[in-house]
Amino acid sequence: MSDIELLKNGIRNIPDFPEPGIQFKDITPVLSDPNLFRLAIDLIIAPYQPGDVDQIVGIDARGFIFGAAAAMRLDAGFTPVRKKGKLPFDTYEESYDLEYGSNTVAIHTDAIHPGSKVLLVDDLLATGGTAAAAVTLLSKLDAKLLEAVFLIELDFLKGREKLKSTSVRSILSY
Ligand code: AMP
Repeated sequence: MSDIELLKNGIRNIPDFPEPGIQFKDITPVLSDPNLFRLAIDLIIAPYQPGDVDQIVGIDARGFIFGAAAAMRLDAGFTPVRKKGKLPFDTYEESYDLEYGSNTVAIHTDAIHPGSKVLLVDDLLATGGTAAAAVTLLSKLDAKLLEAVFLIELDFLKGREKLKSTSVRSILSY
């Protein structure tokens, strides 16, 4: 079996979670299997060597898991993009629309030095609203965004179209 097939076998589909009509991609079976977890991180960091990336920015909450593990492997720092109201210091905030209502994400104003080479990491790219808001936050900090990388991309939701000026890479697509 190829690496991609192995990983895909580790993703569990949960129908109608958290609401009817949503097929939730559950990545916990990948995390609990050391070989699959390592494989996922290997593929996320594949284009890079230690020294290529200054900061990995992970998106709340599953982006923290993959992002932090990737940061360790690349000798990079880790910065969280969190849901509004969770970060204790001064923040920049960015809101984006959901099907019903809106969400706001935040980053510490001093999280990243201007010009730092940054990799944005999350578990899944769906409509792209979350990642696009994170990209806006990174531009406020004058980060040099190398790439946004996702373990999973739901192609049919066309999230890439919200990330036009960003290089986007996904490991698994559906
Ligand atoms: P979006 O802003 O629509 O691209 O949604 C991306 C965020 O929502 C990511 O942080 C994902 O973890 C989560 N998400 C959206 N859709 C799903 C799904 N079908 N399965 C698992 N997580 C999802």
